[in-house]
Amino acid sequence: DPRIARISSAIRVIPDFPKPGIMFHDITTLLLDTKAFKDTIDLFVERYRDKNISVVAGVEARGFIFGPPIALAIGAKFVPMRKPNKLPGEVISEEYSLEYGTDKMEMHVGAVEAGERALVIDDLIATGGTLCAAVKLLERVGVNVVECACVIELLGLKVNVLLEANLLEPFGASR
Ligand code: 5GP
Repeated sequence: DPRIARISSAIRVIPDFPKPGIMFHDITTLLLDTKAFKDTIDLFVERYRDKNISVVAGVEARGFIFGPPIALAIGAKFVPMRKPNKLPGEVISEEYSLEYGTDKMEMHVGAVEAGERALVIDDLIATGGTLCAAVKLLERVGVNVVECACVIELLGLKVNVLLEANLLEPFGASR
């Protein structure tokens, strides 16, 4: 798809951020390019609009940028998957491993119902640990996760830019 090259070139890579040795993929420059940003959302919408999805779950923080316009366009609700102690209501949480230590992801109780069909959105997949935590949270309350989708993939986990991460593949590859 010719749109992907433009999207890709609108993403800036900043070396040594947030620490030495990390090549940080900065999507804020994609948001400045109105055509590339729209193309990004359109590609997801084209893929997911006829999949009977009732929930778009966005992972903090950049899943909050890409998730809501996709949710609006496909007629789904948006559910934020947040860092700990940010949501004011009752939550369920899932702990997951980072390179050093662990983190937690939280979702409001009652935001989703068992049997709903969800799409999980983030900006980038590296090891897949973050998306995996989001999937586990949703599955614990009986939600059917149709797919996870990101704008960028690192590490060659057999998922594409603007990928549809068939979860078994990236997680299989990284374990
Ligand atoms: P994973 O859990 O797959 O190893 O890491 C993915 C998470 O880390 C995502 O939530 C993503 O936003 C964040 N992340 C890691 N590296 C980068 C990066 O270079 N650029 C951006 N935008 N996010 C990153």
